[in-house]
Amino acid sequence: MRMGEAVLAYGGGRLDRAGALRTDPARIEGLLADPATAVLPLWRDHCLVDSDGPVRLTGHRASLVRAASGETVFLGLDGDAAVFAVDLSALTEQSAVEMAGAARAVDVRALVGRLDTDDAAVQAYARGLLHWHRQQRYCGTCGAPAVAGGGGHVRTCTGGECGRLLFPRIEPAVIVLVEAPGSPGRCLLARHAGASEDAWSTLAGFVEVGESMEDAVRREMAEEAGVTVTDVTYQGSQAWPFPAGLMVGFRATATSEEVRVDGEELLAARWFTRAELRERVASGRTLGRVDAIDHHLLGTWLAEGD
Ligand SMILES: [Zn+2]
Repeated sequence: MRMGEAVLAYGGGRLDRAGALRTDPARIEGLLADPATAVLPLWRDHCLVDSDGPVRLTGHRASLVRAASGETVFLGLDGDAAVFAVDLSALTEQSAVEMAGAARAVDVRALVGRLDTDDAAVQAYARGLLHWHRQQRYCGTCGAPAVAGGGGHVRTCTGGECGRLLFPRIEPAVIVLVEAPGSPGRCLLARHAGASEDAWSTLAGFVEVGESMEDAVRREMAEEAGVTVTDVTYQGSQAWPFPAGLMVGFRATATSEEVRVDGEELLAARWFTRAELRERVASGRTLGRVDAIDHHLLGTWLAEGD
């Protein structure tokens, strides 16, 4: 998606997901037999890359990796060509790399700045979908094995009377730029447990069962930082399939400047002016992860000026 002029990593892309084809097994088989069809091999959440980036196989090598694959999933159409992903996780890393004719296995997030938007989006999509297949091998209701169908977008329980349909799960999280009341404009950044001493980022948390996203914003800000917020406003969202996230960006306004961190998830939190953030940028520090939505939440806020 776009926030201002920024295109957030791992979403968008030119792929047509062509959902209607998933339920047409004959068509899926036909696409797999088409020499123009592209196959993206992955190994345990990693892309397989050569010097040009993630490998995209066709023809004989595509057939080879499919034969060795745990799952083959239909990702969509890139123009007229179908794109599938295959999972080589059952192999050793070296065997997977060699079979794919690649040079090494690497997480798509380590390729930030080197992959174009389309490649990052399709690799993240493939990573998330194949991860789900590896985690959903059995039915959670009756324990029977579940088998893939629908082009790899559903698994069906094989327990006779159960037969439950299992769909990929998305786990939404809210990520929030909290502004202080009054002026000058200030935003709340926190140091998270486990992060480095000078890593300040926006606050975030998972949406719980029975909550709206706005409820989750209000609860998380109160729990983690002792801040009551109003004016919760949607800013944009970002696919984050690492392994199953959806980051939903908000802005909110605190009713007071008082901050009290929980000491568990957050070690410290304080208000930053735009001048302070500009100083951090000028000294070479980034505002959050450059591929993540908080970088854009902060960048957009900073650009607004006081
Ligand atoms: Zn079942």
